[in-house]
Amino acid sequence: MGIIVALTGSSGNMGRETLPALMSLPFIDRINLLYLDNRRERRFARKIKRRYGDRVFQIFGNIANEDDCEKLISDADYVINLAAVIPPASDSEPEKTRECNVTGVKNLVKAIERREKQPGFIHTSTVAVYGNRNYLHPWGRVGDPLLPSVYDVYAATKVKGERIILDSNIEKWSILRQTAILHNRMLTDNMKDGLMFHTCFNVPLEWVTSRDSGLLIKNIIKRDYEEGGVENYWNRVFNIGGGDKNRVTGYDTFEEGFGIIGGSAEKFMRPGWNSIRNFHGMWFSDSDELQDMFDFQRESVKDYWLEILKSHPYYKIAKILPPVIIRKLAIERLLPDPNSPSRWIKNGDEGKVKAYFGSKENLKCMPEDWKDFAVLAKGRLPDGDVNYRELKNIKNLKKYGFVLPHGYDETKADSELDLDDMRAAAEYRGGEVVSEEMNKGDLYTKLLWRCHDGHEFYASPYAVLKAGHWCPECTEPEPWDFDRLSKFMPYYANVWYDTHAKGENVVYFFDDEHHAKFTRF
Ligand SMILES: [Zn+2]
Repeated sequence: MGIIVALTGSSGNMGRETLPALMSLPFIDRINLLYLDNRRERRFARKIKRRYGDRVFQIFGNIANEDDCEKLISDADYVINLAAVIPPASDSEPEKTRECNVTGVKNLVKAIERREKQPGFIHTSTVAVYGNRNYLHPWGRVGDPLLPSVYDVYAATKVKGERIILDSNIEKWSILRQTAILHNRMLTDNMKDGLMFHTCFNVPLEWVTSRDSGLLIKNIIKRDYEEGGVENYWNRVFNIGGGDKNRVTGYDTFEEGFGIIGGSAEKFMRPGWNSIRNFHGMWFSDSDELQDMFDFQRESVKDYWLEILKSHPYYKIAKILPPVIIRKLAIERLLPDPNSPSRWIKNGDEGKVKAYFGSKENLKCMPEDWKDFAVLAKGRLPDGDVNYRELKNIKNLKKYGFVLPHGYDETKADSELDLDDMRAAAEYRGGEVVSEEMNKGDLYTKLLWRCHDGHEFYASPYAVLKAGHWCPECTEPEPWDFDRLSKFMPYYANVWYDTHAKGENVVYFFDDEHHAKFTRF
């Protein structure tokens, strides 16, 4: 007797690699797939049907529809949720994004909870939940504060999606925070609007390829099925990363990608084109955890770039045309796009300018020439130089003070954590734990907490201490209130003030027409 897997998002970047990887497992009898009911998805689904025949069962509908989710998971042994509306679509279609990334998760959770024998639930989240990092804390791990970037509807909805699972009654779940993913539609997807200019040149990025991500999901199912459960895997949150060879910065990424077509970051771009904060990305100090369990990190981003570019028209054109023409054809044409920082500046979009550059005044001091711009990848910082290789060495985390405290005694074994640890963690988050009892070491029975603003909420010790979640009313955007929250939450202040001044007293929000606004407090 084999097993049945339910998979969402199989036509997405990660899904396209995950489905064939899963299909190579002989003990999977069938995979249930959910597609949107539109022409593009139906065309894709026909191809899948031709290839796999009766081993796939296809449903056309919407994850935001309860009945469709019910049908999808009705007989599944595992449910894998890869469905998400991601940037740049999430920037222009917030409603669709909420439907898929929040309502969709709610529906899957409800359908799983209703089953007498529950399937295991694997949910993909994102590095974007951590928000912006720079050279002051380029490394991070699960349990670090969730400070999703201002105006990033994608990240905000992914935080909410995680919370639904953490608060659920699902017996076997796991949340995988996916890092920057390199996939073969990267160039076409990310070079059609202004999204590439959101990437700060100095942001730390740990890439993984979509193929390795597919292999990870396959290996999770394989081990779990063959061993009757993988120890220390279920009911936890993990970071997916590509490991040491794939830890770079925004600048290195442009340098590598453009280098293959005869250019470079500096030949193709200008310092003032890209935002200087409010992006997301970091190097994971704990991405070896999944690697140790499931051995999936095979590919380097460098090799994969080459593979992608070779099949792209730019690769051939670049051999004939000089870099300045490529710059105009491929990149400069995107500068006036509504999703590009240059356009926000030109239009006087104060909310976006404030969020991504700090202030209008900061724009005046932006260097125009690369020789004046401190590129982290070259070991240059605005206030002196640094050894970039040393910074990137995982052995130096403590030396550089890169390990963020989570507000309780982390030297204790999980089985020893008690109410005192909850009190300490709550205080570090500016609030308190209301519950007066807790079974020592029980990280999954919910406790009652109170935030600084007086909201009371239930959450498991795991969600708070280990996964970085806190008050659903004031810390899950929107609005983005981190200037204020950081004043009494040392847990947030540690990271927030790396890229924000203490005197910035602003709350960011979207108005009814989805215009980026802020008010001072
Ligand atoms: Zn609150």
